[in-house]
Amino acid sequence: MPETEFHKRNHVRKEVGQIEVICGSMFSGKTEELIRRLRRAQIAKQKVAIFKPRIDKRYSENDIVSHSEQKIPCTVVDTATEIILFSSNADVIGIDEAQFFDNNLVEVVEKLAAQGKRVLVAGLDTDYRAIPFEPMPQLLAIAEYITKTLAVCMKCGAPANRTQRITHDSSRVVVGGEEAYEARCRNCYEPPGD
Ligand code: ADP
Ligand code: MG
Ligand code: ZN
Repeated sequence: MPETEFHKRNHVRKEVGQIEVICGSMFSGKTEELIRRLRRAQIAKQKVAIFKPRIDKRYSENDIVSHSEQKIPCTVVDTATEIILFSSNADVIGIDEAQFFDNNLVEVVEKLAAQGKRVLVAGLDTDYRAIPFEPMPQLLAIAEYITKTLAVCMKCGAPANRTQRITHDSSRVVVGGEEAYEARCRNCYEPPGD
């Protein structure tokens, strides 16, 4: 077949990276879904690098752990920039608890995708006041694929997209589990009175 202009332009195409965001309330299965995708990549012998921010020490120092006790080993990082340093050999990158990173994560994720990598990011889309939790809105805007996960409302059983804080703390970041939060639907969610 003669080499056309089309072939000349396209046969040197490099790997196309992509950004996948998994978001929802607490207990909605974000971490389970992230682990599921990362395990499949590992089974397929892809090079996988997995990260979480140091702040999340709830269940393990060296693993990402779901509320259903599924886990996968990860590297703990202090800043988003460290993810670049540890990802040079990876084809697939997983990041949990993305809402605990600063906005620099957006640039980091873009850079990794531009290098042809598949970047999976999981995090809370809203905080305990039901306000969008940066940098998740920015990540959602630049992602190729978005998955919204829902929990089961602890009051009425409806699909739940909100995180109810059940303690009286008014700082935005309070790392906790079932003792501090529960999943609620739009109707049963009660805005904190602070
Ligand atoms: P996330 O990362 O979104 O906080 P996880 O993947 O860690 O969620 O955990 C999901 C698991 O949480 C469920 O499979 C279930 O075992 C448990 N769970 C606890 N409370 C709820 C709830 N209200 N609705 C759904 N699952 C819940
Ligand atoms: Mg989680
Ligand atoms: Zn409800």
